[in-house]
Amino acid sequence: MSVNEYDVVVIGAGVAGLTAGAYLAENGFKTALVTAGEPTACLSTGCIDVCSLDTNPMAGIKNLPPEHPYHLVPEEIVRESLNIFKSAMANTGNSYAGSPEENRPVLSALGTSKISCFLPSTMEAAPQNMEESLHIVTFTGLKDFYPGYIISRRPNTKLSEYDAGSSNTMSIASRFEEKDFFEKFMVWMEKLIIDADKIAFPAVLGMASASDIVNTISILTGKPVFEIPTIPPSMPGRRLFNALKENFRTKGGSIYWAWPVTGIEKAGKEIEAVATHSEGRPNSINARAFILATGSFVGGGLTATRESIVENVFNLPVHLPGPRETWFNDDYFSLNHGIGRAGIIADSSMRPAASPWKNIFVCGSILGETQVLKNGCGHGLALATALAAAKSCAEYLNDEL
Ligand SMILES: Cc1cc2nc3c(=O)[nH]c(=O)nc-3n(C[C@H](O)[C@H](O)[C@H](O)COP(=O)(O)OP(=O)(O)OC[C@H]3O[C@@H](n4cnc5c(N)ncnc54)[C@H](O)[C@@H]3O)c2cc1C
Repeated sequence: MSVNEYDVVVIGAGVAGLTAGAYLAENGFKTALVTAGEPTACLSTGCIDVCSLDTNPMAGIKNLPPEHPYHLVPEEIVRESLNIFKSAMANTGNSYAGSPEENRPVLSALGTSKISCFLPSTMEAAPQNMEESLHIVTFTGLKDFYPGYIISRRPNTKLSEYDAGSSNTMSIASRFEEKDFFEKFMVWMEKLIIDADKIAFPAVLGMASASDIVNTISILTGKPVFEIPTIPPSMPGRRLFNALKENFRTKGGSIYWAWPVTGIEKAGKEIEAVATHSEGRPNSINARAFILATGSFVGGGLTATRESIVENVFNLPVHLPGPRETWFNDDYFSLNHGIGRAGIIADSSMRPAASPWKNIFVCGSILGETQVLKNGCGHGLALATALAAAKSCAEYLNDEL
């Protein structure tokens, strides 16, 4: 068995884990992040939903029920987490635009609008009213994008189609990173007659260079250009994940990829190590503190059985919203699904309440009473609770010395 020693081990590579890890690494703690795999961010639009219940997200947070975990985080830390996120993204070339004071509509692949407040810069020019006319350029056979639905909702929309030689979002996005492909595409674009106010594309315009590609098309056509997020898998979600990963590594963190935590070692009131299996051999990672950021059901942090709901790493007590009938509904994605309230209840130091461990901190969508879908608070809550958990963990590590 190989043994690795760290100040802190973060479990989970979602928006929460990567944010908490980057803060701790930047503040001089030897930080490792272990993850079973990719996070839910890769399924998301890449937009940062802070709270979609109000036109002003910060006002929306104040009106959430008192048990919501946002209320564990002081307002200045919520704002600080968004500022840190924005500057980190600007440094990775995947910049974001927006304000925590203003939600705005983002056109979806089905022609409906999603409400969010921090958008990838490639979506900044999304239409804000029904009067703006659009010219959509789509790609032959592209799955996960439905221009017909958009046109049925926005009649002043025209459509053109380019054959990119693939119908797969990931492979079209990588082709846009090839100079020859992009030049050929722009020769085709120049022949289009576009009289609409704006040009829209499904979100496949590259990976690392998406912002530059959108700017170049805008300059060459003389029109505002924006991307429409496709249904999952989503390139803007993957760009967000890649950028947060790069940010964590730049701050000095180490990532153990495809290392699901399968066991723990404990002594008294402390966890001493997490155990993982990788490439057939067991590994033990020792640390002075642990951040649990394994997400909810989709991320793999929680599992529902017939009788109860289980937290999969530390077997922490899971808050249930009531008897089974209240959290059982065939449609997992229905906004009011009771299971959206299940999760770990934390105290004001972001430690799991009702647990004996003093060196575990918890953040992100594994927290109880989040109701992420209903409240429109996915990545925003992950950023805020991650910063709060990381600060609390840093204080604990400093006090311990
Ligand atoms: C389909 C979909 C679309 C969404 N769209 C949006 C959107 O557009 N905007 C928005 O703001 N929010 C959106 N959300 C919500 C948002 O994705 C989440 O609320 C938020 O990103 C949660 O992040 P997290 O870091 O807490 O967890 P997750 O992203 O779930 O990450 C959990 C991580 O933990 C790892 N893990 C789990 N178990 C273990 C283990 N035993 N050992 C090691 N690692 C483990 C996983 O592999 C993963 O890396 C969407 C959610 C879904 C499901």
